Amino acid sequence: MTSKVGRVVRVDAKVCHVEVDGDVILAAPAGLLFETRTERKNPVAVGDLVEVSTEGDPVRLERVLERKNYLGRTASSHDPREQVLVANVDQLLIIGSLKSPGFSSNRTDRILAACIWHNIPVTLVLNKIDLFSEEDVAPIRKTYKDIPIPVLETSAKDGRGVEQFAAILKDRVSVLYGPSGAGKSSLLNAVQPGLNIREGKISKYWKQGKHTTSFSALHALDQGGWVVDTPGIRVFRLHGACREDLRDMYPDFAPFQKDCHFPNCSHDHEPDCAVAEAVENGKLSPTRYASYVEVLDELDARHAYDPDQDADLGEMPPDE
Ligand code: GDP
Ligand code: ZN
Repeated sequence: MTSKVGRVVRVDAKVCHVEVDGDVILAAPAGLLFETRTERKNPVAVGDLVEVSTEGDPVRLERVLERKNYLGRTASSHDPREQVLVANVDQLLIIGSLKSPGFSSNRTDRILAACIWHNIPVTLVLNKIDLFSEEDVAPIRKTYKDIPIPVLETSAKDGRGVEQFAAILKDRVSVLYGPSGAGKSSLLNAVQPGLNIREGKISKYWKQGKHTTSFSALHALDQGGWVVDTPGIRVFRLHGACREDLRDMYPDFAPFQKDCHFPNCSHDHEPDCAVAEAVENGKLSPTRYASYVEVLDELDARHAYDPDQDADLGEMPPDE
């Protein structure tokens, strides 16, 4: 039997859209992929490289090739398994704006931690720079450059930074993450007029199935590369990380934490904590520390998921 390797560009309830040799074909995942209940909610995600058998109708998706990396989260508050949102990611772009909507350090830091955990390079894109004063933007720029995370300042309105934005998208698989209204569509339209990434809004029909994900599709760019939107993800909950892991997701804490009194200091309540001191002395951003402590509290409360303890093999609850 002949088989080929392709890239999954969209996952619907029962069928995957797979790009093979420049054409997108529909492939039905082999039953085996879905029948084994695992710790993962979805066996196939957009961005996956897969082997499809090119004979037969429908074409069958036989195997998911090993992933370079992936972005995953806890599926929902009703389903503690890991949901792979997108696989084989070259970078994630956090699109933030200071006004309408205002910049959220907490949301930014959560996704940043997740990307560090999952080995995904990040750039912070501060859009609507035409509306910012230097005093607005300077503290945010400093906080993230100190981590260090590249910060790109853009305006989809007056065109500042748009060329650089296009350049970092070229020939890469990029995940766009940011609140509605930050300017994701406007920025992409400045790169490629007519590109519609708002699939999330028209794909209600496809969400009926129990295996759909919130990430609807990889969109091909004419200049080369792919972008994937992240519709509907409000709170990003890390999956599989414990309290101790969180320290590694805050590289800006590292220069200070070696001076904490306790080598395993969680920087939360311990005395002589050099990280807390650095925040007090203005050497570390208070917003970074606040987001760290908030996520730390959540990780404390979480228990690992054990599929053997789960007797309910019925329908999954819908996505959040
Ligand atoms: P999305 O929800 O992230 O896709 O955001 P949109 O691209 O739909 O933008 C939301 C609103 O912000 C629209 O009214 C845009 O015209 C506006 N907008 C987007 N980028 C900019 C920008 O750089 N400067 C200004 N002033 N407005 C912008
Ligand atoms: Zn400490």
